[in-house]
Amino acid sequence: VQSGKGMNTQSLKIKGVKDIIAVASGKGGVGKSTTAVNLAVSLANKCRLSVGLLDADVYGPSIPTMMKLQGKPEVSEANKMIPIENHGVKCMSMGSLVEKEAPIVWRGPMVMKALEQLTRGVDWGNLDVLVVDMPPGTGDAQISISQRLQLSGALIVSTPQDVALMDARRGVNMFSKVAVPILGIIENMSYFKCPHCNEPSFIFGKGGARKTAEDMGLRFVGEIPLVEEVRSGSDDGVPIVVSNPDSAVAKSYGDVAQSI
Ligand code: ADP
Repeated sequence: VQSGKGMNTQSLKIKGVKDIIAVASGKGGVGKSTTAVNLAVSLANKCRLSVGLLDADVYGPSIPTMMKLQGKPEVSEANKMIPIENHGVKCMSMGSLVEKEAPIVWRGPMVMKALEQLTRGVDWGNLDVLVVDMPPGTGDAQISISQRLQLSGALIVSTPQDVALMDARRGVNMFSKVAVPILGIIENMSYFKCPHCNEPSFIFGKGGARKTAEDMGLRFVGEIPLVEEVRSGSDDGVPIVVSNPDSAVAKSYGDVAQSI
């Protein structure tokens, strides 16, 4: 883990935004963006907060698809981008600014410039909470974001298998180095319930994230099973907490939102 020493740590505090919460993972593909989306919508709809969602995963922005964001942001008179709102959440993503399949090939400094635009260059209005979908991993970009955005806390997403948990530990340690409190660990894809016999299969192992949380003295905030409707909700741009708010999974997301 790097210390972040010597990096530009100038604060990017955003006017009108009370709390900034990162949703992070050590590894890609564990469901970080899916978690960020369902939590952001739950915070808005269930906890009745005013919520923004910043897609800081600039190399692989998936928020426009998962939140069904259409078009490009308008620009205000003060020359700030106006977030695109859907499902009750104000969203900003690099994916809304570039062509859909265009590769984003920037080096580090460009990434920080882009993130600056996506935070301070945006008219967020008054927000209770801004949820940040972090880029996966523990590199320069993650450390700079953590320091410059003055995060109130970070939620770590992990799947239950050892390789993912190892990276989740790295994520926890990175946030500790930059003094960002860890809100807890959420386990995603905890099990798969057979639609025929209703028996759960622990495809990626059982209870790994809970144990890691206990070992590290962190809060275990909940588990989300592997459910087809979660995947289709992400692909269709209608998160399960919107399409099926009474489902067990939507309730779990709601509980996590209320607990953080
Ligand atoms: P990350 O942001 O960590 O790269 P994503 O949120 O993009 O991961 O998720 C990766 C894929 O897994 C997506 O296709 C998403 O729809 C799917 N997915 C995530 N969580 C679940 C879940 N609990 N059940 C089913 N599919 C899931």
